[in-house]
Amino acid sequence: MSDLLAGLNPEQLRAVTWPAKSALVLAGAGSGKTRVLTTRIAWLLSTGQTSPAGVLAVTFTNKASREMQTRLSTLVPVNVRNMWIGTFHGLCNRFLRIHYRDAGLPQTFQILDSADQQAAIKRLLKSLELSDEKYPPRAVQSFINGNKEAGVRAESLPPALNPYEAKLVELYAAYDAQCRREGVVDFAELLLRSYELLSRNEALRAHYSSRFAHILVDEFQDTNRLQYAWLKLLAGEHGALFAVGDDDQSIYAFRGAEVGNMRALLSDFRVAEPVRLEQNYRSMGNILNAANSLIERNDGRLGKNLWTDAGEGEKIRFYQAGSDGDEAEFIIDEVKSLHREGLALSDMAVLYRSNAQSRLLEHVLVNAQIPYRIYGGLRFFERQEIKHALAYLRLVANPDDDNALLRVINVPARGIGARSVENLQAAGREQGVTLWQAACQSGGGRTAAKIGEFVLLIERLREQSRDFSLAETISLVIDRSGLRDMYEQDKKDGEERLANLDELVNAAASFMPDQPEQALTEFLSAASLEAGEHQADAGSDALQLMTVHAAKGLEFDAVFVSGLEEGLFPHENSVMDGKGLQEERRLMYVAITRARKRLYLSSAQSRMLHGQSRYPIPSRFIDEIPAELIHSLSATVKAPVAPQQARRAAAMPRRQAENAYGLSIGQAVSHAKFGIGVVIDAEGNGEDVRLQINFAEHGVKWLDMRYAKLSPA
Ligand code: ATP
Ligand code: MG
Repeated sequence: MSDLLAGLNPEQLRAVTWPAKSALVLAGAGSGKTRVLTTRIAWLLSTGQTSPAGVLAVTFTNKASREMQTRLSTLVPVNVRNMWIGTFHGLCNRFLRIHYRDAGLPQTFQILDSADQQAAIKRLLKSLELSDEKYPPRAVQSFINGNKEAGVRAESLPPALNPYEAKLVELYAAYDAQCRREGVVDFAELLLRSYELLSRNEALRAHYSSRFAHILVDEFQDTNRLQYAWLKLLAGEHGALFAVGDDDQSIYAFRGAEVGNMRALLSDFRVAEPVRLEQNYRSMGNILNAANSLIERNDGRLGKNLWTDAGEGEKIRFYQAGSDGDEAEFIIDEVKSLHREGLALSDMAVLYRSNAQSRLLEHVLVNAQIPYRIYGGLRFFERQEIKHALAYLRLVANPDDDNALLRVINVPARGIGARSVENLQAAGREQGVTLWQAACQSGGGRTAAKIGEFVLLIERLREQSRDFSLAETISLVIDRSGLRDMYEQDKKDGEERLANLDELVNAAASFMPDQPEQALTEFLSAASLEAGEHQADAGSDALQLMTVHAAKGLEFDAVFVSGLEEGLFPHENSVMDGKGLQEERRLMYVAITRARKRLYLSSAQSRMLHGQSRYPIPSRFIDEIPAELIHSLSATVKAPVAPQQARRAAAMPRRQAENAYGLSIGQAVSHAKFGIGVVIDAEGNGEDVRLQINFAEHGVKWLDMRYAKLSPA
C-alpha cells in the first residue's frame, strides 16, 4: 500500500487518494496524469473501497488500455482481464454484446470500420442512383458521423435548409436502415446505440450506475459530446467521475471533441476546483521550455505552469535538409548512431503530421535494414488479404452482411461478374431483402449456378465452423474459399500475403474470448476495433513510426519531428483560420512533449507529396521556439533559412538536370502505370532528379527518378 503511493508528489497524492466523488485533474504533458489515474484504480482496489467490477476506466487507444491493464496487474493482484478498461468504442461494444436484444441488434452484429462504412455508403448511393460526385461518400460519411456524435438521429434533425441538405438527411436515414437490415453497426453507432439504450431503459441505467461507483477517464479533453453524455448517464446522480486531461493537448476538434466538456464537468459534477499537477517528470528542461514557449501563443487556455527539476539537458537539434530524401537519410543516420550508443530502437520515434510521409521513411529504413513498426499506417487488419479473409468469416457469422458478401462474392474470381452482382443487388432491392437472401433464391442459368456454388460454399463453412475452434475455422476459410490458392499463384506479393494470413490464424489461436461460444463474433469485433490502430508485436526491438495524433500519451527517449514545413505542419487546410492554427500548435505541443532526452526537428527545402513537388518554407513553429534552445545542424544552410530567402529559391528557374538516368528534355519515355509521355522539364542533379513528364493519357506529372521506373520509349 505505502509502496503504491511512494514517490508521488503531494498534488499527485491528493489526486490519487481523492475521496469517492468527482474530480478533474487538469495538467500539462508528462505531469503524471495517466500514472495518477492508474495508481488511483490500484489504490481504490487495494484499500477495499471498491471491487474490480465497480470500476470503469476509459482510455483513448486500445494500446493505452492494454498498458493500463499491464501496469495495474503489477500494482494489485486482481484479474484485470475482466475489468471494464477500454476505449469508448471497446466498452460500448462490450455493453451491446451483453444487451444486444434490448439494443435491437442481432447477437452476431458486426462492426464497420471507417473504410467499410464508406463502402456501405457508396453502395447505398448506387442503389439510389445518386452520383457520388454530387454526394461524395466522404462528405456523406462525415455528415452521418457528425450527427451521430452529436447524438442526433436523422428523424430528429431540424428541417433542412436546402434540397441538398434534405438529401443528406434522407441518405442518413437510408443508411441506418441499410445497416439494420444487414446487422452491422459503425463506430459512431456503437456509442449512440449504447447511449440510447441507457437513456430509455431506467432499470439498466440504475444497474450500471450503482455498479460503476468509479468512472475514470484519461485524455478527457478529447471526448466528444456524445461520449460525455454517455459518461453522465453511466455515472448517474451520485456517481464519481474522475477525469484527467490537458486542454493544450486537445487535437481532435475535427472529430467533434469538445474542450468545453472540461468546464461542463466542473459544473455538472459539482467539482469546486480542478486539481493541478505542475511538475513534469518526462522531459529535460530545454524540451519542456520549448513546449511551454510554443503553447503560450495560443489563447483561451485554461492556464498551466510546468516545471522540471531534471536539468536543462541537451539542446534541441534542428536540421534543414535539402530534400525529403535527405531528411530521411539524416534521421536514419542519427537513429543508427543513437542505437550504436546503446539506445533501444523502441525508445526512438519518428513523428509526422501526415501519413503520406511514412512511405519515403519506410523506403529508406528498408534499405538500411532497420526494423521499424508503424502505428496508424496501413494496419494489419486493413490489409487486402486480411479484409478478404475477415469478409468470409463475417459471412460465416452473419450471411446478411452485404458489405462482406460484395467484397468476396467474386474473390477469388469465380465467374460472377459485375453485371451479375448488379442484378443480384437489383433483385435484393426489389424484394427488400439482403444480397444473401437474394442469392439463395437466384433462379436457373449459368451465373445462377455459380452464385449457387458460392451460397453452398458459405453454408458449408457455416456448418463446419460449429465443430471447429476459431483458429481451425479461419484456416478452413482460407483454404476452402480459394484465397490460399489465389495468393500462392501471385508471384509478386503472394508470399507476404500468405504470411499475413498465417498470422491471422496465429492471432485467432491466441485470442481469448469472454464467451467461448461467441468466439468468432468477438474476434471479428476485436479486429474491427483494432483496425484503427496498428497492433505492434511485443518483444522485438523496432523504431517507432507514427503520426503525431497517434503519439498522444506516449513517450520516448529520442523523438524526431519531421516535415516541419509551412503547408505540412501546420497543415495547409488549417493556416487560413486562427482556430485551425491553434489546433496545429497544440499538435506541435503534443509532438515536442513526447521526448524525454533528445528532440530533433527537421524540415526539407523540397518535398514530393501526393505526386507533386513542393518547395516549402520552414514551419513557423520552429521560429516560435526560443533560438537559444536550438542547435542548428544543417549541413548546407547554417541557420534556418529566412522565409523570404526560401521563397526566392523556390521561384528561381529550375536548372536543367545533368542526370544520372540519361534522359533529356524532349525525349519520349514509357512508364509502367502512366504509359507513354514526353519529358518537358527537369530539376535536381546527380541521382536526386525529378522529371516533369507530359503523359498522353494521364497529363503532366513530376516524378522522382529514384523511385519512378522510366524507360526510353
Ligand atoms: P501526457 O499528457 O503526455 O499523457 P501524463 O500527464 O499522462 O502525460 P504520464 O505519462 O503519467 O504523464 O507520466 C509521464 C512520465 O513521468 C512517466 O514516465 C511517469 O512514469 C513519470 N512520472 C509521473 N509521476 C512521477 C513521479 N511522481 N515520480 C517519478 N516519475 C513520475
Ligand atoms: Mg497520459
